[in-house]
Amino acid sequence: MTSSTNRPLTDPITATVAGVPRIGPRRELKKALETYWKDPSTGRALATTATRLVNQLSDGLTAAGLDSVPSIGRSFYDSMLDTSALLGALPARVADVPDHENDGLPVYIDRLFAAARGTKDLPASAMTKWFDTNYHYIVPELAADTEFRLDDAALLADIADQATRGTAVRPVLIGPLTYLALARTTDGSDALDHLEDVVEAYVRLLPRLADRLGAGASADAPAADADTDADTADSTPGVWVQFDEPFLVTDVSTDDARREDLLSRTRAGYERLAAAAEAAGLSLLVQTYFGDGDLAVKTLSGTGVAAFGVDLVTGRTDERYTEQTDVADRDLLPSWTGEELLLAGVVDGRNIWRTDLGRALDTLRALDARGPVGVSTSSSLLHVPYSLAQETSLDDDPELRSWLAFGEEKVAEVAVLSRLLRGEATDADREAVEESARAVESRRRSPRTNKDAVRERTDHITDADRSRSPFAARHAAQQERLNLPPLPTTTIGSFPQTTQIRQARAKLRKGDITQEQYDQAMRDEIADVIRRQEELGLDVLVHGEPERNDMVQYFSEQLEGYHSTDLAWVQSYGSRCVRPPILFGDVERPEPMTVSWFREAQKLTDKPVKGMLTGPVTMLAWSFVRDDQPLGATADQVALTLRDEISDLADAGAAIIQVDEPAIRELLPLRRSQQPAYLRWAVGAFRLATGGAADDTQIHTHMCYSEFNELIGTVGDLDADVTSIEAARSGMQVLGALRDSGFELGVGPGVWDIHSPRVPEQSEVDALVASALDSVPPEQLWINPDCGLKTRGWEETTASIRVLVQAARTAREKVGS
Ligand code: GLN
Ligand code: ZN
Repeated sequence: MTSSTNRPLTDPITATVAGVPRIGPRRELKKALETYWKDPSTGRALATTATRLVNQLSDGLTAAGLDSVPSIGRSFYDSMLDTSALLGALPARVADVPDHENDGLPVYIDRLFAAARGTKDLPASAMTKWFDTNYHYIVPELAADTEFRLDDAALLADIADQATRGTAVRPVLIGPLTYLALARTTDGSDALDHLEDVVEAYVRLLPRLADRLGAGASADAPAADADTDADTADSTPGVWVQFDEPFLVTDVSTDDARREDLLSRTRAGYERLAAAAEAAGLSLLVQTYFGDGDLAVKTLSGTGVAAFGVDLVTGRTDERYTEQTDVADRDLLPSWTGEELLLAGVVDGRNIWRTDLGRALDTLRALDARGPVGVSTSSSLLHVPYSLAQETSLDDDPELRSWLAFGEEKVAEVAVLSRLLRGEATDADREAVEESARAVESRRRSPRTNKDAVRERTDHITDADRSRSPFAARHAAQQERLNLPPLPTTTIGSFPQTTQIRQARAKLRKGDITQEQYDQAMRDEIADVIRRQEELGLDVLVHGEPERNDMVQYFSEQLEGYHSTDLAWVQSYGSRCVRPPILFGDVERPEPMTVSWFREAQKLTDKPVKGMLTGPVTMLAWSFVRDDQPLGATADQVALTLRDEISDLADAGAAIIQVDEPAIRELLPLRRSQQPAYLRWAVGAFRLATGGAADDTQIHTHMCYSEFNELIGTVGDLDADVTSIEAARSGMQVLGALRDSGFELGVGPGVWDIHSPRVPEQSEVDALVASALDSVPPEQLWINPDCGLKTRGWEETTASIRVLVQAARTAREKVGS
């Protein structure tokens, strides 16, 4: 390895990962959390479970050959929330929740859970998606007068614990820019006004961390001395602290002046942090992920930051961004001068494909010629399952297994690459490279990734396949066929998934009931749901989706080219985990997926029942998707299966078919410049799925969020006859923007916020409908809830729908005739 640094790099990291999961290989933390929430006397068990998981993991990473192990200590819910606790910035309303004593849990743990989950008296904090992933963080709630007071006892104890076990532990903190950029304020102030305050809080923390890490400087020295007291920095080499700044892969701000201001203040902040670190005998690593790390390097090099960790996967193999993304190795990270250590994230931290080690090694060598390089993952391993070795669903599919690498396998890949790069490779390492090449080749050549019948169809897709007649013609044909009243009422698809339904599914899985018995239970459920909807007086009915465990998994289990896992859990938020299916090959639909359930429902009523499908983008967003072809090509394959399903549903008599796309916003690239290319294929796939529908088949879609600003045009481009969206909480704001964009299709803004069990007052819903009518002509307006009702109970569901139907009736009288 060449070393062209001016600053002595004491003990550079050669092999690491950007971050670690915490839920446990068998979801042990989930179970301990849920037990504690039910029974607070089990705090001790929760504490020891969390400690054991942290130690097992870091021992495992050390044994696997990593020479630096990232740690956020014990994290019980979410690391943004941990950061709020660490900075003494949990929401003010939880301040009165008492300290937790004597169980080995952080004293603030009950305040932390109160913020995350709410209590019977206190609302929960908002939760939202972490960048473009399906992980959710708890949004910090700040105000102009927020003061940051370190509450670091828990973190320091955890770090000290790990350090004394002989782990080369590297504390990971969320950087000041990212923490604040993702925060909200309760008073309309600018959270980023606190940038310097958060920097100062971390400046106080660094020497205290150094002390626990055994890194030279004394932590008991007052914080103010830390950066002046440089000669106490007789540093133990190689003691690192990591700041995560993924916000630096975004546009930071679309306003140039603000962007420059934030970047220069961030730079000043890191100068200050690096000086404090150096005084304490620590080296700073700044880590970015989910996009190009060059802006971070450009902004922060020369500040004294000793290393950058960057994502070298996103944007290279992920062809969501542009049509041609193959960045040459020599063009990577133009701002990196070789001054700082580069932790090259060549192993994908958020997808599950086995790394092409030969190719990764080429990249590493190209970078190594420019400066010091260590090997890492492109992001935290939080986003992938723990271990392929424990996954039994692949026992009879060695071919697919050979294409994959989960968390543990990725760690092994990092270690192999690092030895190869340093010229310390063993025979086994060289064999691993060969094996990886064979896996890549087998994946490339497998008939499962290249099905002639599928290729034949995708090769012949035309623009006409992606378009329907003009809306006016469709609208007339649909009105004639459906004869719906003005302001038609409907729901989004699912009805309460009762314990009974879930138990039936569990019994089927265990073999306690037959498939026939299960199907009968679902038919009974459908009959019940239809009867209830008729009684409530809804205009367009649904079958209620009782047979669906999950809106993506249900379809993936019926499609070829998808694999469903059994133990491959990934944390989604708090104790909630998901098992994203693996979309590994060309996708085909062996037989209709929803038609029999639709028939079952439609035969029970004269009112139209909506056919209910999950759209192509969402089918990708909530899966692990093949990275060997552009995402748009995969989306088209899924779209064709949906197109066939729509045709079969139409043949079975469905006059309305809904194609849900709740995830279309989530995959939106983080940089504006990359969004149009994404939207082109995303919209194209939706239109391919729906473009075969006859004029008198009404296509609905549904999206679950209200932050539509970037997507207003997209809603129109999808060309669905009716779009339902979340709008209740934001008071119909989105409708004004839709109107201004010249939207002429049908729209159903949610008039009941289903995310809480509260039954809305009649006057509230009336007011929402009235306000919707201010922006949308009555012919365009539908009345429906915000989202599906599967998480709700029947009691509030029935009561709320009654209010909703009444609101439609009242409004009809006003607009009628
Ligand atoms: N049709 C789905 C349901 O009602 C839509 C879910 C969603 O928007 N996430 O459950
Ligand atoms: Zn929804």
